[in-house]
Amino acid sequence: MQSDINWFKNRVSLTPEDTAVIDSNSNDIWTYEQLHQRAKYLANYFVASGVQKGDRVALLAPNHISYFDFFFASMQIGAIFVPLNWRLAEAELNYIIHDCNPKIIGIDPLFQEKLNSIKISTDLIIIDNNRYMDNLPSDYFSYEVMIKEDDPLTIIYTGGTTGRPKGAVLSHRSILWNALNTITSWNLNNDDTTLTCLPMFHTGGLNVYTLPLLLIGGKVVIASEFKAEKAVEDLIKYKCTVVLFVPTMYHMMIQTDAFKQSTFPDMKVFVSGGAPCPHKIYDAFAEKGIAFKEGYGLTEAGPNNFYIDPKDTVYKLGSVGKPMLFNDIKIITDDGETAKSDDVGELLLRGNHAFEFYWNKPKQTEETIIDGWIHTGDLARQDKDGYVYIVGRKKDMIITGGENVYPLEVEHWLESDYDIDEAAVIGLPDDKWGEIVVAFVVLKKEMTESELKSYCKKKLTRYKVPKKFYFLNELPKTHVGKINKQILKDRGLVYKDST
Ligand code: AMP
Repeated sequence: MQSDINWFKNRVSLTPEDTAVIDSNSNDIWTYEQLHQRAKYLANYFVASGVQKGDRVALLAPNHISYFDFFFASMQIGAIFVPLNWRLAEAELNYIIHDCNPKIIGIDPLFQEKLNSIKISTDLIIIDNNRYMDNLPSDYFSYEVMIKEDDPLTIIYTGGTTGRPKGAVLSHRSILWNALNTITSWNLNNDDTTLTCLPMFHTGGLNVYTLPLLLIGGKVVIASEFKAEKAVEDLIKYKCTVVLFVPTMYHMMIQTDAFKQSTFPDMKVFVSGGAPCPHKIYDAFAEKGIAFKEGYGLTEAGPNNFYIDPKDTVYKLGSVGKPMLFNDIKIITDDGETAKSDDVGELLLRGNHAFEFYWNKPKQTEETIIDGWIHTGDLARQDKDGYVYIVGRKKDMIITGGENVYPLEVEHWLESDYDIDEAAVIGLPDDKWGEIVVAFVVLKKEMTESELKSYCKKKLTRYKVPKKFYFLNELPKTHVGKINKQILKDRGLVYKDST
């Protein structure tokens, strides 16, 4: 017997003929019923290939209909779907594949070479087009499986810029409650449409709007990659109403002519998440009178945790909003006490949307989930009205001469100068100060180090002013467009030693 935790089956019975997914590259369209049939077909194939409840099935592909096939087929038979990051190097992929040990891997031929050097005996499904399933045998196998709420549904690998990637296990319950939280907080309904350009191997592409919209009966437009001009065109063409991009994508988008010329009449809200959002991006939307909000999340907690009510008229620049309906938060000081209003502390999260554990990593699980609370490692403060502000990563906080410096504050000031395109601030070890504040900048117009310092001195207390500026043509980014501070720290150490 199948349990009702399979919400997709129920969704399909409500709106079978409605459009569920559109591929913006091929213009193919699938209704809910078609999506369901595809998933059933693949589930049959999985069962015929010996996949049992709890077995992993992985996918190495750009955003594509196969993500939904694999996800919903896994949901039906209790398998665990592992989306693989195709931007990873072979050694990293090798580590992940051996860590989760999938029974089947779906692979786009583009990435076949990456798998060649990895010694695995896993069955492969070649995902060469949207009809790849036609090549699979179609015998029907009956399967009976009881799925419980806390059974794993997906493993999303996260981290990797420091240490080994960790597989965050999201259960049927976590996925469902993340979707319920999102729908109820952001008032989503079946008229809503999103554009998913963020990679679906990342929680931003899979969980933020994509799955919630399929629960509520909305539409998801997928694009295999982000191209700023095309994204603007797609948002307009498909009448998208909500979207999540990371700040780097907005950074590119607001510079295009297509953006400058568009009014986005159907868009309810543009949301930025995954990394701190420069205030310049808020300004670009404010100038056009278009709603723009910053969200915050992490793979281990949904990822959606905060929201700003669309009807909210209070404008708090830089706030990620208030906790979603079914999300408990706590901000604690170093001694474990609850921080007072406006005091900075570590952000803790709790709720049904939380992950279950890290795959094969009991120690890291114990260090992250303590008494039911996820320790995010992020610093935050909550003002007296309940709005939360992310202040930075705990491990990125710089202590210089005994004073705390939050890199984000310095980055925001630097980036508010229109001649500075991007900035990243880190701490480097120093014999005298313990650590010194150092900035990496990408300039739009030539500026000297002393000009930058005098600009900062007008805006910031002395100890927050970077002691050293390094000039780059671009900042190193992770596979989802976040600034890779680990690379900057390594480079900073080399530069410092050579001066
Ligand atoms: P991931 O699990 O890869 O999505 O990364 C989650 C991390 O991204 C969080 O722990 C934060 O450090 C960072 N992050 C996400 N959203 C924001 C935001 N709005 N402002 C600052 N940092 C963010």
